[in-house]
Amino acid sequence: MRIEEYKDMIYACGRCNLCHGTDFDERCPELFTQYWESSTLRGRIAIARGILEGKLDYSEQMAERIFGCFMCGRCQEECKKAADISTVEITKAMRADFVDRGIKIPEAGSKMVDTVLESGNIFADSPAVHAKWAEDLEFKRDAKTLFYPGCLASHRFKEKTRILVETMQAAGYELNFLGDKQRCCGTPYWITGRVSAAKDTAKTFVNMLVEMGIDEVITPCPSCFRALDEEYPKLLGTEMPFRVRHTSEILRDIVEKKKLKFRVSIDKKVTYHDPCEIGRLREIYDPARKVLGALPGVELIEMKRNREEAFCCGGGGGVKIMYEDHSNKVAKERIGDFIETNADLLTTICPACEMNLTHGTYAANIEARVIDVAELVAVAAGIVDKEILETDYFPDD
Ligand code: SF4
Ligand code: SF4
Repeated sequence: MRIEEYKDMIYACGRCNLCHGTDFDERCPELFTQYWESSTLRGRIAIARGILEGKLDYSEQMAERIFGCFMCGRCQEECKKAADISTVEITKAMRADFVDRGIKIPEAGSKMVDTVLESGNIFADSPAVHAKWAEDLEFKRDAKTLFYPGCLASHRFKEKTRILVETMQAAGYELNFLGDKQRCCGTPYWITGRVSAAKDTAKTFVNMLVEMGIDEVITPCPSCFRALDEEYPKLLGTEMPFRVRHTSEILRDIVEKKKLKFRVSIDKKVTYHDPCEIGRLREIYDPARKVLGALPGVELIEMKRNREEAFCCGGGGGVKIMYEDHSNKVAKERIGDFIETNADLLTTICPACEMNLTHGTYAANIEARVIDVAELVAVAAGIVDKEILETDYFPDD
């Protein structure tokens, strides 16, 4: 069993309750949606211990506890003060044990995997659709830096993705692009326990990039970033032959090295939602804040839960696909944090967070603009019109 690898961590839990918090809505979004002790890290550790000792066995009845975790890392942030237990790795191992033992995973999770296996992306689009958003952009076919948008940015946020590329190119970045050769990074596989499919994807992807002579990958998606930078080395047992950077770090470089002039004042109060996968899971909190702080006319107001304590957007761990009602409930709760700030704009720097928080505004029945930090940079640099900041603005695609 894969959880055996984490035996020491599992037995380190002193049941201190830090991961749980005092209120259902305080820390753990899984607890907030399921209300059971077994839906917290402490509870999952108790289940894992029971399985290791042969007192319990994996069963389909456990699926909601194990696949309903958003893998947001909020509990492991608290557990750093106690036993430093890694929920995300243990939850991943439990999901993989499910698959290895032939136990049924949530149907929507299986369907997502089939979709990615068949079409190469999570939306079941034909491969040609990957490149549609980029038709009027110029990429350098011999550039050693690859822009890899991932499924969401290619298929659902096309205008924003174009704006991001135009911004980086205006700042002097020479970017390569896979076009219709792009495939999903493989995150849907390991969050549903399909380790061998994940390994195959990693191998094929890395070989393709090596053949192209790529030495750096830039992506706006925190899941793709962690896939290439963390999961692939673990899956393949080797360091990657390229550097991987999230666009938050690129935008920070643009600001710090003054690669763009900011002439347009934003004139908005904004708040910033930390994506779990670059925030807690990678401790990348400052770049987006530095960028926002450098833009004229931006007043940054923090939400009460920010940085290490940020509440998940509801999109993590595949829960958006497997338990959509849980995901929407969490998104609505996070929108409550935004409303309390009285900010004009809710910014973030993750396509999945942006989608989920937008769904949260629908659930909360409010009209609000959720926007990527890159779009504010593009407005301030005069690359796009200021109208994209308005609440009633809808992109063409
Ligand atoms: S914070 Fe860590 S040690 Fe404390 S109960 Fe939770 S998992 Fe156990
Ligand atoms: S990773 Fe997030 S959702 Fe999962 S148990 Fe921890 S706090 Fe809850």
